[in-house]
Amino acid sequence: MPHKSPRVVCEVNTCTHWLPGDLCGAANIDILYEEEGRMAEKDAHTKCKTFYKRSGLTSYLGSLDNVNWGGLISGPFKGGQQITPAVVCIVESCKYWVNGNLCEANAIKVTGRSADECQDTNCATFEIRQ
Ligand code: SF4
Ligand code: SF4
Repeated sequence: MPHKSPRVVCEVNTCTHWLPGDLCGAANIDILYEEEGRMAEKDAHTKCKTFYKRSGLTSYLGSLDNVNWGGLISGPFKGGQQITPAVVCIVESCKYWVNGNLCEANAIKVTGRSADECQDTNCATFEIRQ
């Protein structure tokens, strides 16, 4: 059975991929360690690397190569299917992490409202693997 990516709820309203309703319009996102090489012990040690600060037209154009056009064209809620990106996550210390850099949570929440850079964002769904 193909792996199903978690639904993404994101409150990072300063990201160029952010859509009203706390949706993410990117085609795919990467969840990484906040500091390279440092194993995450809490959600603040993670980040959405795909964060791209929205600041007018230039950054909007800069993000056009990672837009979930299919999701946008079919509409955010068509057929009960909410627009959501494919998630790649390398945070192995999280209990939802599975081989292949996948996340088996049903949904994840990305936090960091008003973030200026990707280090300000977190995967709030992170839970340390025991
Ligand atoms: S911060 Fe990440 S999850 Fe949130 S809108 Fe931007 S790319 Fe999507
Ligand atoms: S819940 Fe865990 S495995 Fe899923 S994206 Fe967040 S940090 Fe990665």
